[in-house]
Amino acid sequence: MKYNRILVRYGEISTKGRNRKMFTSKLRENILAALRDMPTISINASRDRLHILLGEEDGQEVLSRLQSIFGIQSYSPVVKVEKNIENICMAAYNLVNKLYEEGKTFKISTRRADKTFPHQTNDINYQVGSYVLRNIEGLKVDVKNPDINVNIEIRKEGVYLSCENFEGAKGMPAGTSGKAMLMLSGGIDSPVAGYLTMKRGVEIEAVHFHSPPFTSDRAKQKVIDLAQTLTKYSGKVKLHIVPFTKIQQTIHDQVPENYTMTSTRRMMLRISDIIRSKNEGLAIVTGESLGQVASQTLESMLAINDVTNTPILRPLISMDKLEIIDISQKINTHEISILPYEDCCTIFTPPAPKTRPKKEKVQYYESFVDFQTLIEQAVDETETIVLNVASTVASNDEFDDLL
Ligand code: ATP
Ligand code: MG
Repeated sequence: MKYNRILVRYGEISTKGRNRKMFTSKLRENILAALRDMPTISINASRDRLHILLGEEDGQEVLSRLQSIFGIQSYSPVVKVEKNIENICMAAYNLVNKLYEEGKTFKISTRRADKTFPHQTNDINYQVGSYVLRNIEGLKVDVKNPDINVNIEIRKEGVYLSCENFEGAKGMPAGTSGKAMLMLSGGIDSPVAGYLTMKRGVEIEAVHFHSPPFTSDRAKQKVIDLAQTLTKYSGKVKLHIVPFTKIQQTIHDQVPENYTMTSTRRMMLRISDIIRSKNEGLAIVTGESLGQVASQTLESMLAINDVTNTPILRPLISMDKLEIIDISQKINTHEISILPYEDCCTIFTPPAPKTRPKKEKVQYYESFVDFQTLIEQAVDETETIVLNVASTVASNDEFDDLL
């Protein structure tokens, strides 16, 4: 007997009162999007759980994709059978037999939601347990700490059996908390910041600043690969690549060296904010962590943040580098981030950037240049790429060809 469905438990979203319906329908939509290359899948959702009916699809593949969908507390492959004791015995035997190895113990745990079912809980545990024991040689019962725990749920519409329970990604379904722009560099931190923001249900669009010929195509490709990796958690990520060379060179020529980093960050933030507003985002996300580098002191944040009132989310602010690396390894962005291709900031970073910049000073230095025009030009020339989980890439230019 094969598992024919997967039971998904919601967790945190099931406590969301009146918004619950919105959360559950978004979760359902996100699961379908992650499985959209599997045409025979269907989903039955109810108040506190949903069932993915596998149809003809590969259950293992579905299980592995569910791992990265936010809003799922836990999930179990399940067999549904008709409500009679013979069917239950047979299904339980098949499940245990599949997982059994010498020396393993088991237990039957029944929950009887449908009180009209003619057998009592203990009676079901006993009958099914004895049947399984009789038919698998060497198997033993252990009610305290079994290797195989067969959960049986007697419900109105049928009986569900499961043995395995996988931990979900938790958090909130992607897209239930509005949209934010992630300032995505090629480094270790910002992809992790994006992931943690997505975990709270925020849809992410990424903004990357690229300075050819100082930064290579490979550096750009690295950022595309990072954004692509993040699609696993949301189905889709839009990536805006901003040509930043002219602005960086102007800063380099016009601003005193120890303030170039502060000014560069301010320009990046101004541009990200315009792109945010055009795309109806509500916040900006960065990978800043307090004290990590010169730009990440509170004085520096004050001077940089001066250019906008938009909320800036810094999910890594209190984390140590090792904690951040640990997450980046879990979400598979680490191996991409550590590729050596240069970032625009690395190239233009002065040997001694100011760790306590004054916003009045940087405002003064910037006042000699018409940055507004340069910013508008950079926004106009921004290339937008839409990345989907199935790794198909469609760029602006391709859309233009179609129109
Ligand atoms: P990361 O590992 O994310 O690159 P970092 O430790 O190198 O961070 P900084 O270089 O000070 O720190 O950058 C701080 C934040 O500014 C980054 O986390 C990112 O959000 C943003 N940022 C830096 N460079 C770029 C860039 N080229 N494009 C877009 N955002 C950037
Ligand atoms: Mg960096």
